[in-house]
Amino acid sequence: MNPLKLFLRWQYLGTEDQRPGRARQAVLANQLGMLGALATAPYQLFYIIYDLAALLPLILLNVAIMATYLSALPLNAAGRHDTARNMALTAPMVQVILVTAFLSTGAGVHLFYFSLACLLPLAFSRERMRLLLFLLGLTTVLLMLSHLLFPPGRSVVTLPEGVLRFMYAGSMLGVIALTGGFAFLYRREIDRAEAELSRTNRHLATLSARDPLTGVANRRGLDLFLQGQWELMAEKGKPLAVLMCDVDHFKTFNDDHGHKHGDVCLRQVAEALTGQVRRDTDLVARYGGEEFTLVLPATDLDGATRVAEACRRAVAGLGIRHGGSLPGRLLTVSVGVSVAFPAEQGSVIELVHLADEALYQAKDRGRDQYAVRLPGAEPVEEMSNTAIMPR
Ligand code: GH3
Ligand code: MG
Ligand code: MG
Repeated sequence: MNPLKLFLRWQYLGTEDQRPGRARQAVLANQLGMLGALATAPYQLFYIIYDLAALLPLILLNVAIMATYLSALPLNAAGRHDTARNMALTAPMVQVILVTAFLSTGAGVHLFYFSLACLLPLAFSRERMRLLLFLLGLTTVLLMLSHLLFPPGRSVVTLPEGVLRFMYAGSMLGVIALTGGFAFLYRREIDRAEAELSRTNRHLATLSARDPLTGVANRRGLDLFLQGQWELMAEKGKPLAVLMCDVDHFKTFNDDHGHKHGDVCLRQVAEALTGQVRRDTDLVARYGGEEFTLVLPATDLDGATRVAEACRRAVAGLGIRHGGSLPGRLLTVSVGVSVAFPAEQGSVIELVHLADEALYQAKDRGRDQYAVRLPGAEPVEEMSNTAIMPR
């Protein structure tokens, strides 16, 4: 088994179903536990090779310390997160000063207190500020004590100058690797949390802009899209078309068949309308109730009326029969069309208002057809009235 893979897997021991703060604390204790034991291993190897007999007490002490480090993993797995963290932090606190007592500050092991001071703030939540300050103070005191009590020549074991220098360099490397490594792991964790957050935000934004019944954009999505496209078309000097579609006699349909069936029909109508827009930049939205709006950027009057007629046909083509109080009639829509050049004409509100006026015209003229109203123009007479079924 790849040791790196094991490390990456075991760091998450005991984090399942934990809130983020708890999980982070558990991960830190697991990482510290594994890295502490791992960092001790080369020293052990060195002591064994160098002078097993003289350094045996130190070796045994380190075995106990390594066990304390590693105890963080099963403790976390058993859900005892605070004990796991305390073990993972106590181990280096004790280890560093004891090893320094054996080897003197000449071996540089006391420098690991710097790494520890950097890690401590990551191990406690903001509510445990006092404990954190106490431990930072304790780390400082232990560093000072190591420095004052165990200078080279005043330690349990006296190692030659050259060996000490070699160990000092190794300790410095360890301190840099540990501190930099933890900073890197936390940076990665923050990046991951940020990516997760923006994914969730995007998902929420989509949900809040979608109509839950039909799955098309809702009024909020429509407003945002319309405003954005108005500005974009103004920049590009292209036309923007708006189609307002309203289901004909839908109140009667609901009265005759019930709201549940009405809802099913609204979904079918939304799907039929969506099927008529081909460009990725087009939008179908539920304006409210049984009204749908189509926004067609960079589309002229010719294109807009073609889509309007296609929508009319598509809904009638669903073949949904009114029955009840309107026997022989199919479920149809009336469509109001308006097109404007945002660079030159009016506003979004005016464009939607004109499409709405056109819709009323289509209704007045008998429904199941489209009508057009353009900015600055008088109502256009007959545009389309090609019902495919008798009314
Ligand atoms: P018109 O041809 O003039 O548009 O007649 P209409 O009956 O469709 O118009 P009106 O605006 O009077 O009625 C709209 C009806 O649409 C009212 C309500 O019964 C129905 N409706 C609105 N929203 C929903 C919905 O979410 N689900 C269902 N099932 N019906 C809805
Ligand atoms: Mg209506
Ligand atoms: Mg209606």
